[in-house]
Amino acid sequence: MFQRGARFIFSRASSTAAAPAKNCNKKLYAGAASVVGASGAAAYMTQQRPDKTLCDDLTAGLTGAAAGMILGGLGGYYFTSSTLSPKVEKYEKYWPRKCMMLFGAPGAGKGTQGPRIVDELGIPQLSTGDMLRGAVAAGTPTGKKAKDVMARGELVSDDIVVGIIEERIKDPDCATGFILDGFPRNLEQAKALDAMLAKTGDTVSKVLAFEVDAQLLEERICGRWMDKASGRSYHVKFAPPKTMKLGPDGKPIAGTMKDDISGDALFQRPDDTAEALKKRLKEYEDKTVPILKYYGPRGVVKMINGGQDIKKVWSDVSTSLV
Ligand code: ADP
Ligand code: ADP
Repeated sequence: MFQRGARFIFSRASSTAAAPAKNCNKKLYAGAASVVGASGAAAYMTQQRPDKTLCDDLTAGLTGAAAGMILGGLGGYYFTSSTLSPKVEKYEKYWPRKCMMLFGAPGAGKGTQGPRIVDELGIPQLSTGDMLRGAVAAGTPTGKKAKDVMARGELVSDDIVVGIIEERIKDPDCATGFILDGFPRNLEQAKALDAMLAKTGDTVSKVLAFEVDAQLLEERICGRWMDKASGRSYHVKFAPPKTMKLGPDGKPIAGTMKDDISGDALFQRPDDTAEALKKRLKEYEDKTVPILKYYGPRGVVKMINGGQDIKKVWSDVSTSLV
């Protein structure tokens, strides 16, 4: 349904985040090996030249250290490449896949906390809302079907979103797990998810449910600005971009709303209005909330107080990850 290359754009935050997490130990081993190599080489060079001055010894020591770092680094890399890859492969093959879900009303904080979980766990965040917005912007057949439904704040048909997720979780960056954001949205989607996970022996391992008082949501939604490529969320009051400047009316000047990382212009979603929010909240209450009862008996649901400030919410989220 979506082009392979484009899928990476549609994951919130970086879908390559898995790589640094896996490579981290490799770098540590290589670094440790270079330090050992450097010290050894420096000691050797100094010992070989007892008749030389202190300055000569230092030069020799530094040269030795540099050579040792290169040799040690290469040795460390070779050592870890040959010993770590099979371990990663075993991990991917035998350990339970982390199939996590972010659950909460529009504006509850899923898009804000998600990228932090991505950084922490090194698995991608899959936002059906971002994927559908990408399809609308690209004018694909799916986008054409979804555009008006989304603008009205209604749910897109199940077969479209189930198809998108089923394809996406086959990608290699989902091998050890993924974080669902905005999916499933009703019981039918939850059952379809269970069926697709069962095909690979997987199951939903955690549902993080953000509880936020409905009165807070309108201010959050109407003040939200987003980065199209990454899905990063900003807020004029609670999480302003560094570049934001206010006009004489106290409202942000659109041209100053830029993503902190890429510098790209931020945008406001057409459905982030008080009017569309009413409809979205009704859909959420009627169709999405029953999912919690469905997953509850499995003991995988963690409730998070999403009404606190962003840092406090993250502190609670991070302790719920273990
Ligand atoms: P969701 O993805 O659940 O729809 P977002 O994470 O995009 O919600 O958050 C909606 C808006 O509220 C964003 O503008 C975001 O910056 C802001 N926001 C998120 N969490 C908090 C919080 N704990 N306190 C205040 N504002 C928040
Ligand atoms: P939010 O969490 O802020 O409501 P999303 O970005 O998750 O918004 O979704 C935006 C819109 O995309 C929804 O209002 C709906 O029209 C559509 N959508 C996203 N995910 C789904 C889904 N799983 N099923 C049906 N429609 C969806």
